[in-house]
Amino acid sequence: MVDKGVVIVVSGPSGSGKSTICSYILKENGSSFGLVVSHTSRVPREGEVDGIHYHFLSKEVFLENKKNGLYLEWAEVHGNLYGTPIDQVEDSVAKQKNIILEIDVQGGLQVKAKMPEAVLIFVSPPSYKELENRLRGRQTDSDEVIVKRLENAVGEMQKIKQYDYFIINKDLQVAINDVILIGTTERKRVLRLNLNEIFDSMRFPKFQK
Ligand code: 5GP
Repeated sequence: MVDKGVVIVVSGPSGSGKSTICSYILKENGSSFGLVVSHTSRVPREGEVDGIHYHFLSKEVFLENKKNGLYLEWAEVHGNLYGTPIDQVEDSVAKQKNIILEIDVQGGLQVKAKMPEAVLIFVSPPSYKELENRLRGRQTDSDEVIVKRLENAVGEMQKIKQYDYFIINKDLQVAINDVILIGTTERKRVLRLNLNEIFDSMRFPKFQK
């Protein structure tokens, strides 16, 4: 009944829990969501699989792709390049599937500039202290990396005003439900609907624009 799927951007500081939220939603609602796998110049972490977690590319190939206009948005985050392949996004929305782009704030704002109908959700940790606890608790990053991520978080939090929705991730299940609810609600926006098709299917007289 709708023209296109909704492009949902989820951003927030590293440690906000946005990855956990997004992967849960994709796992549980796979059939209604299209999958978009980002490109990155970062080297894979242990357990990461090429084509599933990311498409891992050299910096040279990434920059060539960028030059050829392959990315809807791209950004340098923590010293590595990341980009969203535009063809994957277009394919999914044309098939009326929603997509979730778990990308940083620079990328999120580029998506909004190119696709004003995209929905931008900012996920925040409940406090600065909790963010620090989560980053240290992971035991995956060096002290230097943690300090850099905390510094970046301060800058990212300042971009909240340019986002459409703000979720404080205090309780994971509540945050997951909130993101799902936003997606469901946005899909019902009159502006996204093909009213002619809907009226035809309801056998109402033709809708007059
Ligand atoms: P990580 O390397 O830890 O997987 O991701 C680091 C950061 O890059 C996260 O904030 C993540 O959301 C962001 N990121 C992942 N993919 C993309 C992308 O395609 N574009 C942008 N702009 N950021 C991305």
